[in-house]
Amino acid sequence: MAEERKELIKLESGEAEQPFCWSAGVYGSKFLTELRDNKRFVGVKCPKCGKVYVPPRNVCGPCFAELTELVPVSDEGEIVTFTVVSFGFVDPSTGKQKPVPYGYAVIKLDGADTYILHYLDETDPQKIKVGARVKAVFEEERTGSMLDVKHFTLLER
Ligand SMILES: [Zn+2]
Repeated sequence: MAEERKELIKLESGEAEQPFCWSAGVYGSKFLTELRDNKRFVGVKCPKCGKVYVPPRNVCGPCFAELTELVPVSDEGEIVTFTVVSFGFVDPSTGKQKPVPYGYAVIKLDGADTYILHYLDETDPQKIKVGARVKAVFEEERTGSMLDVKHFTLLER
C-alpha cells in the first residue's frame, strides 16, 4: 500500500493583474461614445431585412448583408426576462465584490430587434414583470462603457 501523502500544496494567484486593452471597433466605439457624450443608444439597420441591431455590428447574420445605416433607438424598452442575483461574487469589471441582491434583465429597447443585458433598480422579484417598461438611468460621470448606464428603472411600479 502506498504511503498516504499529507503534504498540503499551497497555490497563489501571484501578480494576477492582467490589464487588457482592445479596440471596441468602429461601431462599438460609436455606440459607446454616444452613451458617454449624448446619453443615447444607437443601433444599425439591415438594408435587406430591416432588423436593427443594438449594439451595432458589421454584418446581418441571416442576410449576410453589410450593415452601414446607424439609427437611433430609444433609451426606453421592455423586460424580456430577468433575475434577481443574490449570490455575491467579485465583479470582473471592477475587481470588487458586487453588492447583492440586484436585478438583472434582458431588455429590448424600443426600435431595436435585439436585446441588451443590464441591471435593474428593483430587487424584489414580485415587483418585476416580463413586459414591464423600463428606462435607462445614466451615470453623471461617463467613461465610454456599458456601465455609463447605471441601471434601468421600472417605469410602472
Ligand atoms: Zn438582414
